[in-house]
Amino acid sequence: MVVRFWGVRGSLAAPGSDTLRTGGNTACVEARCGGETVIFDLGTGLRPLGIALMRKGPVRASLFLSHYHWDHIAGLPFFAPAYDPNSELVIHGATRRGRDVRQILSGQMVDPYFPVDLGVLNARLRFVTLQDGGLAHLGGAVVRAAELNHPGGALGFRLELVELAAGADLMVFDAQYTPAEYRGNGVISKQGWGHSTYEVGAQIAKRAGVKKLALYHHAPERDDRGIEKLAALAKRLHPGAFAAREGLEIKL
Ligand SMILES: [Zn+2]
Ligand SMILES: [Zn+2]
Repeated sequence: MVVRFWGVRGSLAAPGSDTLRTGGNTACVEARCGGETVIFDLGTGLRPLGIALMRKGPVRASLFLSHYHWDHIAGLPFFAPAYDPNSELVIHGATRRGRDVRQILSGQMVDPYFPVDLGVLNARLRFVTLQDGGLAHLGGAVVRAAELNHPGGALGFRLELVELAAGADLMVFDAQYTPAEYRGNGVISKQGWGHSTYEVGAQIAKRAGVKKLALYHHAPERDDRGIEKLAALAKRLHPGAFAAREGLEIKL
């Protein structure tokens, strides 16, 4: 299995000279295994991923939405394979407040937010509802969904190769805040905003016997040096910890 990070930023894209090494695109992770292309979250990193996929011919992919905040959906209207009639895309997401994944995604492609609606996407699109505890079977792989703690709800996903069902080799974890920022830093507490810290990530990784811990969903205002500092602190708590950056590929 190969995992590649196409967008590692949380909340808002953060381009600029201070974020060149880590990257400025929002949440998007690609996993390739057993001939399957699996995409987790459709943030702005989805656009360059789409271009790369199109170069290899007709695109067949399974897409999973953790939730529908902007930084996780904004890439879909700019995902080239979605406009190609030869593409086959299966988009999985939870029903929230009575609206299913298709209805919710349609909602970001309406006037005056966007010039064209979901109907212009020419790909063969299939929408699949995935809730807490749900499973999606993709050829030789399975994706498991579990409800997380995030405003409005969000799913966490586990991708398993059926024949290899080993312990998790890699956990991709929202570590947007430092522990001090999370507590409030004397200003405003970030508790309840839906993001976590490297400290919590390391604790969970240790308890779960996770081998590699990718810190992900970086704060838009955190520059490369800040992210490298966080990664070094996390490494002290869990030797497998590192900061995800755009373009990083991990073979498992
Ligand atoms: Zn987010
Ligand atoms: Zn969110």
